[in-house]
Parts: sequence; structure tokens; C-alpha cells
Amino acid sequence: MSHMFIPGPVDVDPEVLDAQTKPMIPHRSAEFEQIFRGTEAKLKKVFLTETRVFQPPSSGSGMQETGVRNLAQKDILSCVNGAFSERWYQVAVTNGKQADRLEATWGDIIEPDKLADALKKKSYEAVTIVHNETSTGVENPLKELAAVVHEVSPDTLILVDAVSSLGGVKIETDAWGLDFILTSSQKCLALPPGMSFAAASDRALAKAETVDNRGWYFDLLRMEKHRVKNSTAMTPTMSLIWALDVQLDHMLAEGLDDRYAHHAAMAERVQAWAKENGMEPLAAEGYRSKTVSTIKNLRGVDIAALNKYLLDRGMRIANGYGDLKNKTFRIAHMGETQMHHIDELLEAFETFLKTM
Ligand SMILES: *Cc1c(COP(=O)(O)O)cnc(C)c1O
Repeated sequence: MSHMFIPGPVDVDPEVLDAQTKPMIPHRSAEFEQIFRGTEAKLKKVFLTETRVFQPPSSGSGMQETGVRNLAQKDILSCVNGAFSERWYQVAVTNGKQADRLEATWGDIIEPDKLADALKKKSYEAVTIVHNETSTGVENPLKELAAVVHEVSPDTLILVDAVSSLGGVKIETDAWGLDFILTSSQKCLALPPGMSFAAASDRALAKAETVDNRGWYFDLLRMEKHRVKNSTAMTPTMSLIWALDVQLDHMLAEGLDDRYAHHAAMAERVQAWAKENGMEPLAAEGYRSKTVSTIKNLRGVDIAALNKYLLDRGMRIANGYGDLKNKTFRIAHMGETQMHHIDELLEAFETFLKTM
């Protein structure tokens, strides 16, 4: 077997990889526009939105920039409880926004009560939330957090990074009133890196009209102008779109609910295994990621040695992120990862533990 258990890029189905070899066509053509309209229609199903989904070139971080740059003139509240929410805060600041931090310790969630308090103290145009903190394996209670924003500060836009969860975990974009929600191609959607996807509400676009200095490349209104013509302002990532088309067909044929259940089952299996083997997840019960398990390294495993051992068997996992390196390790179970892959990984891991 050859399989990666890292939280992106993930393994891509060979048929999806092959789809990229389809020849190029002019992007200003009815043929391309038809395919592009089709991928957007399928993406709307995955995003659980009726509104719109953009499909621009750029990785997910580019859409973090799009969100903060277009959807606030000045005041942003950044919820920070891990590396990617920290990045989003930095993106806001370096785009000249006045961003305040609502912080929680790495490994903890953003508490809805604390978000409510912060929103009562000051009026914010937008709040940024990372749904699934890939660095810590924490799933923030997004539905509750969004409900708090709607209740306490209804004019504040809700910006969500769902890079490592969308497609693997049910996120109800329209029902929960999320204004801007982004993901990358190379994680739960199991595509090669290079594309991002974002849904935006009508009120988000209305807000963008009032914001100065939206830039050019990441201007949401320019994106919208082209989206309604089934196109992009710049040259699209054509090969990736061929792959996207095939992968979305696979995902929708499998059924999204089955996919969510399958991710939850893999997370259960890995997290239960960790406990049986004298370790435990970093996140508290009820808030553990369904797509990437961050496990406390309570057995003092030499992660580099473990990965060397695994690599000889065609597998690899991820070390902890930043300060959590070696103190934790991460096993991703997203995209096309199947339970039999997990079984094989855990069996090899156990054999390694016996050699320690
Ligand atoms: C990977 C990741 C990112 C960064 O995405 P890129 O596609 O590498 O730009 C942002 N947020 C989260 C939660 C991630 O897991």
C-alpha cells in the first residue's frame, strides 16, 4: 500500500489524476463555460448553498485574504485557537485591517459565550472562525458560534475557513447563515493543490460594494461579474477543473451523508485506538476533529523514527504543528482515505510501539 495520512495534500484517486491530462481548450468558449457552470452546480451541493461558489486559482490562503479584504473596511474580530486561525489574523492585519483577537489556548475551542461577550463590547464588521483547526485537531462549534453572532450582532458578517473539513463534515452554509466560507482543493476534496473554493452570501457581496481597496485579483465583485458568465477574470486552472469535475461526481455518487459518516467513523477508530494504547487526543471530547486526529504523544514516540518505519511500508503521518511538534502527532483521515488504510496504519504503528 502507498498512502499518506497527512492533512493535505492528500492522495488523489488515479482516475481523478488522469482527468488532468485532458487537452486544453480556450477558456473563453462555450465548451469551457459549460463545464465550469457544471462544477459550480456540483460545488453548491457540497457547500449546502443555493447562492454561489467561486472557483478561482489560488490555494485556500488566498481566499482567507479575499474574505478579510472584501468584507470589512476596518473592524474584524479574529477567533484564534491554532495556527491557521493565527494566519487568518495575520492576513487581516497585513491587509491593513484593524483586527482584534479572541483567543483560546491551542487545543481548546472558541467558546460561544466568550464570542458573545466580545461582540457586546465592540461593533465588528466581520468575524473570522476556523471551523476545523488542522494544527490542533479541534473542531470549533461553528453552528453555535454562528448563532451567537446572529443573535448578538446581526450585522456582523461570518467568515469561515473550512479548509480541512468541508466535504468531510456537514456544514450547513445557508441554514447556519454563513456569509463567506472557503476551502482548498487538496484536503477533504482530495484534489491536487492549486484551487480554492468559496461560497458568499448576497449580503456579503452587498458589503463588498462599500469596502475600498478590494484589490484586483481577489476582488469579490470582479469574481461575481465573471461567475455569472460561468467564467473567471483570469485564466482558470483548467486541468484542475477537469479533475474537480470527476471528483465531485464521485463524491455526489457516494452520497455526502455517507461521506460524513465515514469520516466520523475513521476519527472514532483512531481516537479510540490512541486511548487503548496509552495516549489521548489533544481536543476535549465532543470537539475532536473528524478529519484529522491530533494525539498527545504520551508514549514518547520518536516521530521521525516512526515516520521512517512507516515510509518503508508506504505510509506517513504528520508531526505536531509548531510548538506541538513531537508533543503531539497528527493522523489525517480525510479525502479518499478508507477504513482499511486506517487499519493498516494502526497495525504498523502498534508493531513499531513494540520495538520501542
Ligand atoms: C491547510 C489549511 C490552510 C491553508 O490552505 P492552503 O491551501 O495551503 O493555502 C488554511 N486553513 C486551514 C484550516 C488549513 O488546514
